Amino acid sequence: MRNPRYVMLVDTRLCVGCKACVLACKSENNVPDGYCREWIVEDIWGEFPDLRAEIRSTRCNHCSNAPCVDACPTGASHFALGGVVLVDHDACTGCKACIASCPYDARYVHPDGYVDKCTFCLHRVARGELPACTTVCPTRTLHFGDANDPHSEVAALLRSREWKVDHPETGAEPNLYFLV
Ligand code: SF4
Ligand code: SF4
Ligand code: SF4
Repeated sequence: MRNPRYVMLVDTRLCVGCKACVLACKSENNVPDGYCREWIVEDIWGEFPDLRAEIRSTRCNHCSNAPCVDACPTGASHFALGGVVLVDHDACTGCKACIASCPYDARYVHPDGYVDKCTFCLHRVARGELPACTTVCPTRTLHFGDANDPHSEVAALLRSREWKVDHPETGAEPNLYFLV
């Protein structure tokens, strides 16, 4: 049977930066006050009056060649179903090697001592549900699914739209795509 490759797509034409996704993530995953698993980036480029702006929701890229997994000395950081990168909280010593290795600054130290980050809400996916952030977006900016399934919505969008990823030069092979 074909292995899934879970990806998330962020439509930069639609994201308005309302942070509904950020709040849904905090609520769903009990993210403590002062920390977040996802955040909003606002970029402005060009010269006045020819300015362009882009707002996008971002999070862990669940890299296929994840430097954090390579860096983790205990095996706490590991690949799970669909290539999703998870942290086994019990196996994590809080050494922060993964934080130093992540090109996307996607991890934080939880007050309980382990490292935490986006899980692609794999606990919801295992129940046949979508990640919390994708369900609340009022502009349908976020899409989640199996890129290895040619009939999936995400595969169709990756075929039909132009897209980019953050820092492709790192070789981390991110699975968070930004539709442009
Ligand atoms: Fe690891 Fe960072 Fe890639 Fe997430 S974005 S898989 S934390 S290297
Ligand atoms: Fe692994 Fe935890 Fe150390 Fe990160 S902080 S490298 S997850 S043991
Ligand atoms: Fe948060 Fe889940 Fe969305 Fe990741 S997939 S940013 S853990 S709500």
